[in-house]
Amino acid sequence: MKTIPYATQWINRNDILTVEKVLKSPFLTQGPMVELFDRAIAKYCEAKYAVSVANGTAALHIACLAAEIQTWDEVITTPISFVASANCILYCGGKPVFADVKEDTINIDPVEIEKKITSKTKAIIPVDFAGYPAECQEIWQIAKRYKLLVIEDASHALGAVYQRKKIGSGGYADMSTLSFHPVKHITTAEGGAILTNDTTFYKKILRLRTHGITRDSNDLSKNEGSWYYEMQDLGFNYRLTDMQCALGLSQLPKLNKFLQRRREIVAQYNKAFSRYEQVRFLSPIPQTQSAHHIYVLLFKREKFSVPRKVIFEEYRRQGILVNVHYIPIYYQPYYERLGYRKGLCPKAEDYYEQAITLPLYPKMTNSQIQRVIEITEKIITRYSKR
Ligand SMILES: *Cc1c(COP(=O)(O)O)cnc(C)c1O
Repeated sequence: MKTIPYATQWINRNDILTVEKVLKSPFLTQGPMVELFDRAIAKYCEAKYAVSVANGTAALHIACLAAEIQTWDEVITTPISFVASANCILYCGGKPVFADVKEDTINIDPVEIEKKITSKTKAIIPVDFAGYPAECQEIWQIAKRYKLLVIEDASHALGAVYQRKKIGSGGYADMSTLSFHPVKHITTAEGGAILTNDTTFYKKILRLRTHGITRDSNDLSKNEGSWYYEMQDLGFNYRLTDMQCALGLSQLPKLNKFLQRRREIVAQYNKAFSRYEQVRFLSPIPQTQSAHHIYVLLFKREKFSVPRKVIFEEYRRQGILVNVHYIPIYYQPYYERLGYRKGLCPKAEDYYEQAITLPLYPKMTNSQIQRVIEITEKIITRYSKR
């Protein structure tokens, strides 16, 4: 039996040829592809600047450093995300503060954000969960009222639209971060980027990507010659290679086609599953378009005679490699050791008990979609309460 993964990349001949060309060129890294990719990403996302980095986690890390998050600063984020969304705060010595999600969208609730603000709060990190834009304008208004920065983790939302502008265009965030991991919308194997419209953040991020070093003559304290550079911050080697940027440049023109296919699959799923009151799925808030990173189906606990675990294992037995996004971040043993306890965000915890991520990726065939739908229907029929 051939299995169906929950997500996978789509690499074609052109992608391979593009990477091969770089392999035969003088530069494997720090060559011409980096700036071309950075510009292309900025243009697509309608942002002034984009800085590619080694992965989405590195993007979040240096965005937090550029925001000057430091020891004792509190940063508010969502518990329903990948651990990187909160780990980046810990990297800087800050304290993640989890605000609960809304029941219908599973995105961070602006009302809960405001409740968690203290004199120590420095920033908010919203996540556009599953590709559905968070309530960006409301979050931005709260941030401005309390003089906080907004770093949007847009790892799920490349190509998503909010009030007719692309996510990442910077209307409602100081910086937005992307990931190009193979399960995301386009891939560079590992990879990520930071988007911003702010020149100061941009310059700082450029330095942090490469050891904190600048060679820009406008920014040097003195000039001893054309070899001269200065390390002005404690940065990292978070660069993306030329091979990877070339792959990204080859993937990017296909993004709209990928997004279209994701929308088609989600429409087919929604149509099939809306017939069953035992399950529910996410829906967008007004004036937004999702980038459909993942498809989550919620199996309403009170409607089933078995726990979610049994349903999950049944999918796996049938060769459908479903997943769960996400375990509330503060459930993780490391966070427990920091003192976080269950009960912190009841809606997030309730969601976690019921969620299963079904396969969703552009390369999915119609017969694979049909198989997922048929197995889901069988599962609903077999395990619901009578
Ligand atoms: C994928 C992802 C990241 C970053 O992941 P990398 O694997 O480091 O590229 C961060 N946040 C969220 C929500 C993600 O889904």
